[in-house]
Amino acid sequence: MEENIVNSPAPTDFIRAIVAEDIKNNKHGGRVETRFPPEPNGYLHIGHAKAICIDFGIAMENGGVCHLRMDDTNPTKEDIEYVNSIMEDVRWLGWDWNKHMFYASDYFEQLYDYAVELIKRGKAYVCDLTQDEVKSHRGTLTEAGKESPGRDRSIEENLDLFAKMRAGEFEDGSKTLRSKIDMASNNIHMRDPAIYRIRRFHHYRTGDKWCIYPMYDFAHCLSDSIEDITHSICTLEFEIHRPLYDWFLDALEVKKHPQQIEFARLNLSYTIMSKRKLLELVQNKLVNGWDDPRMPTICGLRRRGYTPEAIRDFCEVIGVTKYNSLTDIALLEHCLRNDLNKTAMRVLAVINPLKIVIENFPEGVTDELDAANNPENPDSGSRKVPFSREIYIDRNDFMENPPKKFFRLAPGQEVRLRYGYFIKCESIIKDDAGNITELRCTYDPTTRGGNAPDGRKVKGTIHWVSVPNALEAEARIYDRLFTVENPGGVEDDYLNYMNPDSLKTEKCFIEPAVADAKPGDKFQFERQGYFCVDLDSKPGKLVFNRTVPLKDSWAKLQQSEKTN
Ligand code: ATP
Ligand code: MG
Repeated sequence: MEENIVNSPAPTDFIRAIVAEDIKNNKHGGRVETRFPPEPNGYLHIGHAKAICIDFGIAMENGGVCHLRMDDTNPTKEDIEYVNSIMEDVRWLGWDWNKHMFYASDYFEQLYDYAVELIKRGKAYVCDLTQDEVKSHRGTLTEAGKESPGRDRSIEENLDLFAKMRAGEFEDGSKTLRSKIDMASNNIHMRDPAIYRIRRFHHYRTGDKWCIYPMYDFAHCLSDSIEDITHSICTLEFEIHRPLYDWFLDALEVKKHPQQIEFARLNLSYTIMSKRKLLELVQNKLVNGWDDPRMPTICGLRRRGYTPEAIRDFCEVIGVTKYNSLTDIALLEHCLRNDLNKTAMRVLAVINPLKIVIENFPEGVTDELDAANNPENPDSGSRKVPFSREIYIDRNDFMENPPKKFFRLAPGQEVRLRYGYFIKCESIIKDDAGNITELRCTYDPTTRGGNAPDGRKVKGTIHWVSVPNALEAEARIYDRLFTVENPGGVEDDYLNYMNPDSLKTEKCFIEPAVADAKPGDKFQFERQGYFCVDLDSKPGKLVFNRTVPLKDSWAKLQQSEKTN
């Protein structure tokens, strides 16, 4: 045993410490069984990714298993579309539940039996109060609640009424089955919370079989127990529900009593994470569906060009604590750049084109320049980039009247073309309105490959694309969906803070290397950012999403903190 302790790495967070301690003490026979229990009422988002990495990660690290359980006890908002997307997203993130796929709705019969058992034990009763009356009976934080007149019903009468609830003899909302705990409890959740309510609603799996549905707190702990979960890991808002979680399991004296452990949920700046609000964005067509690349959903991030590696890395970096906080979205983007930097092929692309004619380069000739596909990856090889008399550069890389430290192209000033030659601006061509339409330049043939044999230096290197070889594509440039750091926390409507410029569509020109790119392929457009081929892309009509610009504000922040 001693040896074991020395050899195992120190747990990286408090949940892993609890699990390690339980294994050491042979609690649950040393077994680790967790679950990820989404309600299939929306698509998964980056916050769920955090929970998934904790649930699946802890199980995997300890040779255990993690269940995927659809927490589908509320028929009004659930749908098979969501079940399918959840399965796809968990798999895409890199996790495998193997054969451990479950549905809380499969336990409806068993849960009903548990409720009957509670009645028999004198721990549940049928209540006739309306929803409003229940509310007014509940009391406040400082005042005890008032007991329901139904509380003193006999067990026989309760059994009879509950059976009739199931049989559909009562109107929706006219009765509830409630736990008999303590209307004076300091914890409002313990004041005889509801166990079953009557609700005639078609369930996407059980159809019209049931007109009563179990409440979350009752169904959740018992589902965990039925599946013999050892560690039921959830977010902090359930901490106050834990006494109730334990109460149900104790009152029923079930053999399997999982341990609920809570951690702080992920909140991300400039983002909302509520499924209700995300659904609202989709339904009101404020975004183009759940997988709109501006959405914090897993499918949105995937379409945007995020990788599962980057998301898992992010989840590891943010760690697991009990303190609520707002995580800077720049950290997520930093993790993404780290990954794409290693894997994305570099290409030359111009989004904001300005045409250049190189007057001393022969017409009709194409030079083929060598370019490394990814300097970070020696195995990625190189390619030929066509160069010719007419090229596009980015408009922002030229200034007619440059300030002192402008090292890019300017009248009479030399600049290096990436992988190519030095060019010098000789003259500017303008339209009648005075807009620059073209530049006339000369190139120095001795500088092929980027160095001058005479040793003269240029400070700037700019990207470019050969006009006759360029592929025209659409570039979708995204910005934050919201203009405030915490749109979920504003006093008025969060919709007032939507960024009107969150999507801009631009025409761009790209070197021919991307001609056969498929949806999902990722590139670095040099000096600009990472781009991913969108699902809308077709051969001959390429569409790119800008995944993330190159400038890493997180790395910058870390740098300045170090030097300060
Ligand atoms: P709702 O807003 O409808 O309650 P939810 O976001 O809690 O939904 P669930 O489907 O109930 O969604 O979540 C499944 C699991 O993911 C839960 O265990 C929940 O605690 C966890 N989870 C949800 N949001 C986050 C988040 N932002 N950070 C970490 N975990 C989260
Ligand atoms: Mg929830």
